[in-house]
Amino acid sequence: MTTIPSMIPSPQQTKNSIDMRPIYIPNYIPNPYYVRIFDTTLRDGEQSPGAAMTSQEKLDIARQLAKLGVDVIEAGFPCSSQDEFKAVKMIAEEVGNDVDDNGYVPVIVGIARCNQKDIETAWEAVKHAMRPKISTFIATSPIHMEHKLGKSKEEVLQIACKMVKFARNLGCHDIQFVPEDATRSERDFLYQILGEVIKAGVTTVAIPDTVGITMPWEYGRLIADIKANTPGIENVVLSSHCHNDLGLAVANTLEGVRAGARQLEVTINGIGERAGNASLEEIVMALKCKRYDQFDGLYTGINTQHILKTSKMVEKYTGMYLQPHKALVGANAFVHESGIHQVLFLPLILLVTLISSITFPPFRSFLMKLIASSSSLHSSGRAALRKRLEELGFQLKDDEINRVFFNFKALGDKKKRVTDEDLRTLVSNEVTHIEPIWKLGDLQEPIKLVEYSVTTIKNGIDGIVTTYVVICRENSNYESTSTLSQENVHPTFSGTAAGTDVVVSSVEAYIAALNKMLGSKE
Ligand code: MN
Repeated sequence: MTTIPSMIPSPQQTKNSIDMRPIYIPNYIPNPYYVRIFDTTLRDGEQSPGAAMTSQEKLDIARQLAKLGVDVIEAGFPCSSQDEFKAVKMIAEEVGNDVDDNGYVPVIVGIARCNQKDIETAWEAVKHAMRPKISTFIATSPIHMEHKLGKSKEEVLQIACKMVKFARNLGCHDIQFVPEDATRSERDFLYQILGEVIKAGVTTVAIPDTVGITMPWEYGRLIADIKANTPGIENVVLSSHCHNDLGLAVANTLEGVRAGARQLEVTINGIGERAGNASLEEIVMALKCKRYDQFDGLYTGINTQHILKTSKMVEKYTGMYLQPHKALVGANAFVHESGIHQVLFLPLILLVTLISSITFPPFRSFLMKLIASSSSLHSSGRAALRKRLEELGFQLKDDEINRVFFNFKALGDKKKRVTDEDLRTLVSNEVTHIEPIWKLGDLQEPIKLVEYSVTTIKNGIDGIVTTYVVICRENSNYESTSTLSQENVHPTFSGTAAGTDVVVSSVEAYIAALNKMLGSKE
């Protein structure tokens, strides 16, 4: 255990050193006003239904999380699959060793159940990082111990301590313990097991509201009680981990920090299992906006200028699209209609301006017109593109840049403005592709797609989608006279299909339209 330095900064010193990130000591934060941000987008976030990412995408996101300045990146669950192991290892080796000018490098965490195989595998995956960490969890609530584990309290306590010591013996000196379903665990047992794993050598303990049913004041009370009743709790950092089943993950996390949690487990855009986790951007901005009047000067090391680009990247890679009114990063969050009575909304606009000035760089309005309009493949255009892509969080090899640049120019010919969103699409189409096994060769019929629309009947990945496709012959000389306009038109053929899979539904609709066309006589 590291000894606690006697000199702690006064509030005034803290106020002056507003963005200083204290040095990383696993079990202790040298500045009492500093709150660690533990990002679990790549672990809990990726457990969102339908949000699976490729290793390359995970690495890109991890790089971006480092730019954002998160203290800890939970990179995954190495024992869950070979791919996952490789992704975590790659992140540990690359992002976990990329020290910036201020000495910052994120801690890289691998999660493990409380057993030797999980812990060994997690350690193999993270150990090459400069600051490797294992987070190990076991259920402590009566319902989970009985039905999930089939173990008694005594057995769970014994396993937890044994596995923490096992991890330490492997050479891991930064270990988090997670009593799963903590908010439904018996208090006395919780204090006891936390006290014992602290003795066994953990550096942080996380208190998960695993099923997301806790009220903010209950969660705050739980954190305060743990602080007051757990032997040795002053030797570790307390962490919050809240789920959003009742829409309270952010509120619960903020109550947690008020009660003494100094590490907050969050995800970009609040993605995560079921209804998700506490959202990084909402937590960080709440702390920033109300730092002195509600949070006694607490602050994080997050570079808020990177929030929006990180959010967009996660949205794109996970396919978890944001509702337009999502706080801070939704499409409507900073849009105000020009027609409305602005006086009425002035206070709101002032707040919006305050937040947007600290959160968003001017890149939303950044136009790539300049380089898009250059007519030849100037190296300066390519360098500008490379720079912009780097600012957006993409580090590409030369041949990748060339491919993106080629398509970028083609797009520039079609569109007046190439936006950052377009650039992201170009990159994800051209670079983060998977080695092709199947390729679309060609379609035999010369067909023009006239119309295509998808209607979702129910939201979510299990929703039913109805696809509507309209086609016509591309080089047809055949024309008929429209009964409406009396103009000569090419006949069109429509097809519809419904199903839970949008791709299958689209293909079926297309084939239906095709059959109609083939069945018609020219
Ligand atoms: Mn979770």
